[in-house]
Amino acid sequence: MKNKTMMKARAPQRKPPNQWPRFFRNMLGQLDVAGDDPVFLAKDDIALEDQSYVASLIAQGLLSEEPSSSIACISCDAIAAVRRKGAKGEKASAVCPCCGAIFQTNAQELRRWRADWNSLGAWVKDMAETDGDLESVSSSALFLGHITRGQERFEVYLARSLTEQTSGQQAYSDISQSMNGSGIVLSLAGSFPKPTNPKMAVVRLIDCLVVSGGEFAFEWPEQAFSGKDQAKQRAGLARAQNDPRQKQKESLKAFVRRKIVGISIDTRHHEIAEDIRKNHKDQITYFDRLGNEHKLSNQIILDSIAEVLRENGLGDRISGKKFNT
Ligand SMILES: [Zn+2]
Repeated sequence: MKNKTMMKARAPQRKPPNQWPRFFRNMLGQLDVAGDDPVFLAKDDIALEDQSYVASLIAQGLLSEEPSSSIACISCDAIAAVRRKGAKGEKASAVCPCCGAIFQTNAQELRRWRADWNSLGAWVKDMAETDGDLESVSSSALFLGHITRGQERFEVYLARSLTEQTSGQQAYSDISQSMNGSGIVLSLAGSFPKPTNPKMAVVRLIDCLVVSGGEFAFEWPEQAFSGKDQAKQRAGLARAQNDPRQKQKESLKAFVRRKIVGISIDTRHHEIAEDIRKNHKDQITYFDRLGNEHKLSNQIILDSIAEVLRENGLGDRISGKKFNT
């Protein structure tokens, strides 16, 4: 109990998205609708306590520093052009085209950070550790590469402008045309239409990101893997049905099912296997397509029996039931 509490205390603190740095959530919202235009964060957009996130996002390549070449006029609503002085542009002054005001500014005030659609794609790709090259699929979708989960490979896409029905469906259609297997679409927007392609699962990007210790990390949510390659599944099933060994296994399972009846003392699955090997050889014998005789392996026999026992809510032995041969 004590150990468990200590383990918990050491685990990194994860913040829910509504407590994430405000500039980050704003930036994603802007990138969703900005098209290929860059999005800029001014110094005032970033809260003091969020500055460490800016540093880590620069290190991860999502943000880059790009000083502003214009600034709001101090005496009217217009935007004034900046003129830089000094070797590193550390001194600067601005002239307002509207009211003619001339005022001093400095490099610190002009600090600005830039993000754009492609840098976001590259950042997500790095974080999600997909393999393959980043490719643009359409104006609103990037292909980020593949990930493997269990036996299955998934194509990963990043999509913007999904909120609106028409542009959302257009993005899905473009992605569908590029997809070969099952796909995961990461949506920049918080809401999106349901995709009609059953191989495609759509999840919000923010549901894949976790904030911990001043940095962002990537974790796949389970629903990302709900897109199923049904054609591949059907082919797999057909293959299994035509495989003589698989067919014999199914036949053996049916045999075991028929034989589990009545009440008796404990019978272990290896005892059932022994009985079958001794008295029901035909249940474990099959012929390949060339007519050669084979026996099911010991492991397959044991697995088949265990599967039937589990179907009946039993463990690896028959408690209270008899294997009646
Ligand atoms: Zn002015």
